[in-house]
Amino acid sequence: MRRTYEDRAQGQCSFHLAPVDGEPLPPFEAGQFVTVELELDDEQGGKRTVTRCYSLSDGHDPSAYRLTVKRIPAARPELPAGLVSGYLHDRAAIGTVVQLRAPSGRFVLAEDDGVPIVLIAGGIGITPLLSIARDALHRRPHSEVHLFYGTRNSRETAFLSELQELSHAFERFHLMIVHSRPDPDEQPGRDDHETGLIDVPLLRRMLPHGRHCFYLCGPPSMMASLVPALRAWGVTPGDLRYEAFGPASVASAEDLAPSPLTEPLEIRFADSGQTLTWDGCDTNLLDLAERHGVVVESGCRSGSCGTCDTEIVSGEVDYVVPPSFDVAPRHCLLCVAIPRTALVLAA
Ligand SMILES: Cc1cc2nc3c(=O)[nH]c(=O)nc-3n(C[C@H](O)[C@H](O)[C@H](O)COP(=O)(O)OP(=O)(O)OC[C@H]3O[C@@H](n4cnc5c(N)ncnc54)[C@H](O)[C@@H]3O)c2cc1C
Repeated sequence: MRRTYEDRAQGQCSFHLAPVDGEPLPPFEAGQFVTVELELDDEQGGKRTVTRCYSLSDGHDPSAYRLTVKRIPAARPELPAGLVSGYLHDRAAIGTVVQLRAPSGRFVLAEDDGVPIVLIAGGIGITPLLSIARDALHRRPHSEVHLFYGTRNSRETAFLSELQELSHAFERFHLMIVHSRPDPDEQPGRDDHETGLIDVPLLRRMLPHGRHCFYLCGPPSMMASLVPALRAWGVTPGDLRYEAFGPASVASAEDLAPSPLTEPLEIRFADSGQTLTWDGCDTNLLDLAERHGVVVESGCRSGSCGTCDTEIVSGEVDYVVPPSFDVAPRHCLLCVAIPRTALVLAA
């Protein structure tokens, strides 16, 4: 494992993971992610397996995968900082071995119909979009590629030299760096292309008239405002693809606030012998299970990695967002599923 910081603030670090057996790594489609499994110490002095997804941030290289991980601070002072990102930033070094599941995910380039490609990245959401940008520039010689990349300031802008190299190499690549909170010594126009937030008025101003295919990956606030705004602007579902890095972004992007049910549903977790009530106030079945102490392994919490895949013994579920993981018949992903009927689950 080799590691490199990608931003001046040293909050985003790339890890180059080479296979232990020296065999070539499986190819992947730009935009896909790998699922990382780590055995970390728990508070009781034992071990616990934790699972997280990380997008592949470069093109395919059979000798190593590059992941780029942002350090996640504690959400509130009384909470711990991000577990896996903290472990990788503080402890992972040359020689550290991590278990990976093969690349997967459906956030990849659509069929080539010659439509210009617009990539919109917020913060660490740049990772799949950098890989997609490279792929589009190399494999689609006739496509214009626009990348709008929003960060707070130039210290937090990752991959700057890589992006500038792409800009110099490809006239068809239009890079627009947008800083929302520039440092006092930064100059608009010199350190960024625009100051503020990426929004539809900016896109209207910068993009040529006509149809575009949009790809979006960013923090919850960006997803929650831009996805509906793009739809309202007239972007069709077929021309709008996005990926959420966590549950908040999925929920807010889809505007799926939990709503109480007049007739609650019975949910039986057969293996743990618990019968619970779904009253419509939980965001998904994983939240319901965890709130009542039903132990379920989980990873991405956004329907991507398949860790919480659970057999449905009886009943039917709906999905708040369609999983990007292929779920077997009579199974469901608890992290994005809600009950349509009473359920018996093998968990
Ligand atoms: C498809 C996909 C691709 C992704 N790609 C990338 C990528 O390329 N790069 C990247 O950096 N990330 C990526 N992610 C996000 C990544 O998987 C992790 O979610 C991220 O690294 C945070 O994990 P963590 O273990 O560090 O944080 P966690 O330990 O999961 O903590 C996250 C936050 O929750 C807070 N928290 C902890 N305990 C509680 C509690 N009890 N109640 C409330 N809050 C709590 C913490 O304080 C912290 O702020 C991706 C996610 C998905 C689904």
